[in-house]
Amino acid sequence: MRADETPEEVAAPPRPLPSVDIPLLRHERRAGRQVRMVWVGVGTALALGAAAAAYFSRGDSPEPEPDAREAATPPISDASEAAEPVATDASVAAPPPTAPEVELRQAPDGGTRLETTFGSARGFRPALLAAGLDNEDAAELEAALDGTLDFRRCHPADRMVFLRDADGRLLRFEYHESRRRYVLVRRDARGRLQATQVERPLDHVEIARGGVIRSSLGAALESAGLGRTLVGSFVEVFDGRVNFQRQTRQGDRFKLIVDEQRLDGELLGYAPPRALEFDGQRTGQVRAFYFAPTGRRGDYYDADGRSMRGGWLRTPLHYDHISSPFDMHRMHPILHRVQPHNGVDYAAGTGTPVWAAAAGTVIWAGPKGPNGNLVGIRHEDGFTSWYAHLSAIARGIRVGVEVEQMQRIGRVGTTGRSTGPHLHFGLKRGRRFMDPLAIINGPGRLLPAGLRAPFRRLQHQLAAALDAIDAGPAPAQTEPARATAAAPVNVPLD
Ligand SMILES: [Zn+2]
Repeated sequence: MRADETPEEVAAPPRPLPSVDIPLLRHERRAGRQVRMVWVGVGTALALGAAAAAYFSRGDSPEPEPDAREAATPPISDASEAAEPVATDASVAAPPPTAPEVELRQAPDGGTRLETTFGSARGFRPALLAAGLDNEDAAELEAALDGTLDFRRCHPADRMVFLRDADGRLLRFEYHESRRRYVLVRRDARGRLQATQVERPLDHVEIARGGVIRSSLGAALESAGLGRTLVGSFVEVFDGRVNFQRQTRQGDRFKLIVDEQRLDGELLGYAPPRALEFDGQRTGQVRAFYFAPTGRRGDYYDADGRSMRGGWLRTPLHYDHISSPFDMHRMHPILHRVQPHNGVDYAAGTGTPVWAAAAGTVIWAGPKGPNGNLVGIRHEDGFTSWYAHLSAIARGIRVGVEVEQMQRIGRVGTTGRSTGPHLHFGLKRGRRFMDPLAIINGPGRLLPAGLRAPFRRLQHQLAAALDAIDAGPAPAQTEPARATAAAPVNVPLD
């Protein structure tokens, strides 16, 4: 497959793929909701709290020079001022303030600094007037912001900061749309106000950790102080090499080198992990290294420089759990008789996107009896893949159309003979159905010759860093390191 030509999926944030343990997903959803609520609270609290904090820390925070440098200039109010009051108020989204909080103080050069919130003003001009600007200043500021700040998106809690010189002339203005983004207006050398968008850079903090799996990979990551969302990185990067659904055992261990992305000390997320290791009783040790040479999207490679992505996605969607495995002797849930289940059922919400498991040509796209809406794709080497019970087939997916790996071909549904929304994913070679989960991907593509030396240097560094992580005792390798379809599971993963 043309793994190296569709790299954006790897660079994308890790899929929150809960294939390892369903309860994790609900935790993550709940955690996600809480995070969103906190953010709403943070936004409001920031505005209310920043003024108060500024009051109490009066004189502590140095004012930046008005002629400060380009976009990376820190905002006028020190981040530490804003960080404090968040905790007091973060869990409750306060009602919009009826009148803007105003904080005015003397700047060292004799000028003034005024900080306020947008408040309940009915428009941008009224908000500026409420902050004490006269019509002339307000008009000049509005003109400077035209095209940079969308006035319709102003929110009562947004923070505004005005800096004037000793003569009362407006030197600088900040409009804080979020903690990360603000619009900065400054006077240029010719005395004209110029607006720029500023995005505060995230701090990257490299973390190198490991741990032993006792109940699930997600729990082990959490015990190591890492986010459960990183489960998705493991599942995705080792897709085709480790079947986390079936091959993980108590005592297996993981190692991870990843950059935390922080703002004002708060964890916002993770960059794509730099290196991952899974060392399992059934899988042996597998490692993957992230390599992003200039001019090329980053991707994961094994120690030899082969792409981790083999020919197939075995999980052609973000699913909740496997509701029915491949089973040639299954008792059919509707027909109540033994009938082979010639594919894997992935339970997922109606509308979940379904991707082509590999590049190929569409050979069926439409209803087909008990399959409901069905898409069939012909691939290399006599393989065909089948996607049944779809609620919708993606636009442009018709017989004869070429599709790329991971291209969206439809959405999960429950059409045809089906008891609930799920994807029935079937894989055939010639006329024979095969278990998609038992198919091991072949080796991925080797890096081009010119990139192998720089990769090797990086890989040596990362491998040494992985070696240095103490993740607990290595698991005894009791079973051969290969995927087996019907392996008994000793330790259920949640
Ligand atoms: Zn099925």
